[in-house]
Amino acid sequence: MFKKISLLIGFVIIALVGVIAFKTVTNTVDTTTVDAIKMPAINANAAATRLAEAVRIKTISNGTDAPVASAEFTRLHLLINNSFPLVHDMLKREVVGGHSLLYTWEGTDSSLPPVLLMGHMDVVPVEPGTEGDWQEEAFSGVIKDGVIWGRGTLDDKLSVFAILEAAELQLAAGLKPKRTLYFAFGHDEEIGGDKGAGKIAALLKERGVRLAFTLDEGMVIVQGLMPGIEDPIAFIALAEKGYLTLTLTATTEGGHSSIPPKTTAIGKIARAVSRLEENRLPAALNSPASDMFDTLAPHMPLSLRAIISNRWLLDPILVGELGKGGATNAMVRTTTAVTIVDGGTKDNVLPSTATATVNFRLLPGTLIQDVIEHVTQVTDDPDIDISVKQGNEPSRISSQDGEGYKLIERTIRETLPDVLVSPGLMLAGSDSKHYQSISDNNYRFVPMRFGPDDLARVHGTNERIFIDNYVEIIQFYRRLIENAAG
Ligand SMILES: [Zn+2]
Repeated sequence: MFKKISLLIGFVIIALVGVIAFKTVTNTVDTTTVDAIKMPAINANAAATRLAEAVRIKTISNGTDAPVASAEFTRLHLLINNSFPLVHDMLKREVVGGHSLLYTWEGTDSSLPPVLLMGHMDVVPVEPGTEGDWQEEAFSGVIKDGVIWGRGTLDDKLSVFAILEAAELQLAAGLKPKRTLYFAFGHDEEIGGDKGAGKIAALLKERGVRLAFTLDEGMVIVQGLMPGIEDPIAFIALAEKGYLTLTLTATTEGGHSSIPPKTTAIGKIARAVSRLEENRLPAALNSPASDMFDTLAPHMPLSLRAIISNRWLLDPILVGELGKGGATNAMVRTTTAVTIVDGGTKDNVLPSTATATVNFRLLPGTLIQDVIEHVTQVTDDPDIDISVKQGNEPSRISSQDGEGYKLIERTIRETLPDVLVSPGLMLAGSDSKHYQSISDNNYRFVPMRFGPDDLARVHGTNERIFIDNYVEIIQFYRRLIENAAG
């Protein structure tokens, strides 16, 4: 009997090893090729100068309650009008929501669903105290040694200006699109986008517009960040995570600290915080993060390829490993971050209330209500009130097989032949969410080339872009406009 069982186990192991090996070996690189095309050269210095001028205009979003930098937006609009005369004269231009811009390039075939390219004109402020850390002043727009310096060169004036540069070039070349193209530039993305992108999307919806797809900022080309892959990878985000801030308030009896109860309001909040950190939401590898691994697996070293090609068996191991990292953890989990705690005023007085502010970033498929239920269950304290301070649900997941994705992918292969292309999940938020009501497919990608230290420049210190890369970005949009025009 024992012999029979060990024989059976031996057989199962051999079969498993066989399946794993087969799945690993047959998971090879897709050889469909797209030929690189040589785009006509552009005047890089003139384009760089225009972006640098835009950087000097302080279109800063300071907060939802702060006044809008109206005069600065007026200056930026004027710069755009003067810099791109063909766009100004030949496209329909509308100012929406006070300072956002919507351009319409009417196509000749109204049966084709339009495409919308987007970006935002506002920037975040420089964190007080860090001004001196900038190699070149944040709003100087200095051009030096092939680099354009300043706020907005990565996020996101470069998208706005690169799209306009591309449109100007195509207008000069006499392009007559079959499909209608929209260019939409918001003025309040950094504070939620309700008054800009929100209003533009509502306006288009009112006009009955249904878009084939939208392309916004979001993910970029990264190199040296994916284990085992040396080639740069262009990540097209199919979705963005949701955003939720909860306020936890503990209420107990106040009084004198000489006769304290066993637990104070602060103790209750401390306990709740500790429980939340010890009981994170569960990790799982789902779309679009799983699509990314499936797409990139053939390019990975054998050991990693073996694990990813055999997720039917090894998924728990993979998810466990991903859950340990910082960025990889954020790809597989709705994250929990306690960002503010507050309680107590005097050393001999019992506080009657204490609060904790907790920020969550929700994976697609997880709802705000799910997180509230998790927090209620984990904290398990009737004296703690849980309320929503701010929240928006995660986005839908756009199609990786649809026309829009294929078009963006093809344009990347044509204009940036050295990079791999993969779907991805955007960990932060963008204006794209506002367009979900008029398009099923919202993609988020700008071909900025990021090394390991570049992510910290976004919203941080020493934001800057290489002119060579800026030219690549313009050429990408230039070709995309042509491809999308039909
Ligand atoms: Zn941005």
